[in-house]
Amino acid sequence: NKKPIINFNPGPAKIDPSVLLRAQAEILNFQQLGISVMEMSHRSADFAKILNGAKATLTQLLNIPENYKILFLQGGATAQFSAVPLNLLQRSPNCSADYIVTGTWSAKAVKEAQKYGKVHIVHQPLEKYSRVPEQEEFDLDPEAAYVYYCDNETVNGVEFSYVPDTGNVPLVADMSSNILSKPVDVSKFGIILAGAQKNIGCAGVTLAIIREDLVGYCMKQCPTILDYKIQIGMDSLYNTPPSYSIYLMGLVLEWIQNTGGLLSMAKKCVLKSQLVYSAINESNGFYSCAIEDGSRSRMNVTFRIDGPAGDSELENAFIEESKAANMIGLKGHRSVGGIRASLYNAVTLEETQFLVNLMMDFQRRHS
Ligand code: PMP
Repeated sequence: NKKPIINFNPGPAKIDPSVLLRAQAEILNFQQLGISVMEMSHRSADFAKILNGAKATLTQLLNIPENYKILFLQGGATAQFSAVPLNLLQRSPNCSADYIVTGTWSAKAVKEAQKYGKVHIVHQPLEKYSRVPEQEEFDLDPEAAYVYYCDNETVNGVEFSYVPDTGNVPLVADMSSNILSKPVDVSKFGIILAGAQKNIGCAGVTLAIIREDLVGYCMKQCPTILDYKIQIGMDSLYNTPPSYSIYLMGLVLEWIQNTGGLLSMAKKCVLKSQLVYSAINESNGFYSCAIEDGSRSRMNVTFRIDGPAGDSELENAFIEESKAANMIGLKGHRSVGGIRASLYNAVTLEETQFLVNLMMDFQRRHS
């Protein structure tokens, strides 16, 4: 099987080959030190250079203001579903937070927050996760500790096209599946969270960008490892950090910088997703996407075959054909079924075109 794999995995996901080749070249002997990054002390000056380098590149890419701290944490974005309420809820007099729920992952975040305080969902419940509510639909509590949302719902394929306006209440965003796919005005956010394994590296490290003034309100029972103030005080080194994953993130960040930065990533993401959405729109209903225009994700394109309810036989046939064409990762999340194409930063336009070609060919043969 010599043809290259086309990787549409939802995460862990494709990493640009140039990044992996560089990691390979450095794996045994990092910068003439005679050891691997994996074998390096996390308290050494050499590792500090790696950590600070990743922070500096990220600061440049996102233009992060000085009053924000960058943390490299463990436990995935899932651990942050707990860390956010544990660290912030006590900022509010009634220990309450506002949540916007547009899909699987924000719903999970609500469940964790409910363990520690009051959760107010700020819009009418969405029957199906098929759209992002509009700003006018939000009933925000000015005394909430924070407003939480997920900028891109990986399972459902729903993405915000705007930043919610929450006034003086800090906004917390889970950007696990679209971080660094577009320029973002960091100053609009209290906290930005993202697991690395989709757009910025490999599993094991979670990025947190935190506005300084939000720390110091942590609940007594918060595990030390989740306490932002302690993690900031120790520069992410309270315990042994996921050092190799941080190193790899640094390489991915440099790759983004060297390939044109966030504007270039954003352009590419629009082009790629438009290719697939156009194939769906122009299929006379053979393919259908349940997500409303304006809420369709640029990162995770979800669709059904042969009508909105899907035909599982045809969908299975499509998955089998895609595998035969060396494409992987196209099966929809087990909770929703259908097809999902994850088009993260490292997926190329050419690879996306292969998928579209398969879609058009499949439709010709099956309709
Ligand atoms: N949030 C989003 C948007 C995700 O896509 C995921 C993972 N698919 C998570 C949170 C959870 O991340 P982890 O598995 O790293 O905890």
